[in-house]
Amino acid sequence: MKNLVTIVLLAFCWPLMAQMPAQQAGLSPAQIRAKLDSLKKAKRAFHARPMAEESSGVLRNDSAKRPKNIIFMIGDGMGVSQITAGMYTNGNYLNLERAVHVGLIKTHSSDDLVTDSAAGATSFASGIKTYNGAIGVNTDTVSVPTIVEMAEAQGMKTGLVATSTIVHATPACYFSHRKSRALYEEIALDLPTSGIDIFIGGGRQYFDMRVTDTLDVIRTLQEEGYDIRNNIFRTGQEPISEKIGIFTHWDQPKPYLTGRDYLVPASKFALEHLKDAENGFFIMIEGSQIDWGGHANNSDYIVTEMIEFDKAIGEIMDFVEADGETLLVITADHETGGYAINPGSSLTPGATANDTIAAGFTTGHHTAVMVPVFAMGPGAAEFSGIYENTEIFFKMQALLGLKE
Ligand code: MG
Ligand code: ZN
Repeated sequence: MKNLVTIVLLAFCWPLMAQMPAQQAGLSPAQIRAKLDSLKKAKRAFHARPMAEESSGVLRNDSAKRPKNIIFMIGDGMGVSQITAGMYTNGNYLNLERAVHVGLIKTHSSDDLVTDSAAGATSFASGIKTYNGAIGVNTDTVSVPTIVEMAEAQGMKTGLVATSTIVHATPACYFSHRKSRALYEEIALDLPTSGIDIFIGGGRQYFDMRVTDTLDVIRTLQEEGYDIRNNIFRTGQEPISEKIGIFTHWDQPKPYLTGRDYLVPASKFALEHLKDAENGFFIMIEGSQIDWGGHANNSDYIVTEMIEFDKAIGEIMDFVEADGETLLVITADHETGGYAINPGSSLTPGATANDTIAAGFTTGHHTAVMVPVFAMGPGAAEFSGIYENTEIFFKMQALLGLKE
């Protein structure tokens, strides 16, 4: 009898379960526009409330040349000390120094002076202060539109590159709307219909080896037109689709120290895929693990991640300087570790950064210290000064002329 019930239940539920990814995949352009409209309404309602720390993001120089494209790079946990340690360990130079426009942002979230990466990324992606752990939702857990969704709606191409899983807090806030950053498998469900033209990151297990259900979200991605791969393409291996998804690791990609080194080729590959977009492009590239070095209170971990991120920055800067139509903005969501470079540190190279940096750490968590912003290209001057992290969104929205 029990078996019969199971069979009947399965027979009844299986077609429904099997249909779920197809329905997820089957949003028509009209339905996507309707989804975006409802997100916009939620955001307008949210902004109707008085919030002293938020401004409208009016540009200071409205007549300056506008960028066609924006490349936004986030060093997770990349405070001034992390940059400094990377710079001294790298022979007293980083590519970051090529950016002439530098600012500082206040990183606090809506419920804590010390933000997490989810609230931080939601501020950058959607221009709101929200609670720690929120993925693309406001303090009432209502979805708010992201810059990626707005760019897609206006015919731009979009991309995401991360050295964490693609469902991790920082990249997730560009395509997902979930009440908690811990809901990795729910976040994964939001990727197929995101419209994102290229994504590169880890976390394939959240798509086709799911614990909370039996959905095959890799298949859903393919049904949405994604060429899904597990490696950065080698020369001559042309993508079979306009939309590309590359899973670099089953779960979290390794630290640079133990063999991961794809951020530079992945950034170049993604840029190559987007650079000829007729209506421009927006891409977010994250050096995800500078933060994890901070959590580990490990200078060597921080510095190796920092230098890899800076190498990617160098490649991007070469493109930005030659292109002339692309704005590059580089910042961090917060500082991690209360990292200090203490007396006893040296410019003389040692075997590792742990030998050259006499490190101090005040915490294994994040801190509330302001973090720097670096900018280059058309509109870069808008990013100097001291302002809230939410202003990053408003400046980018205004510069790209993205409508809400
Ligand atoms: Mg992150
Ligand atoms: Zn962190």
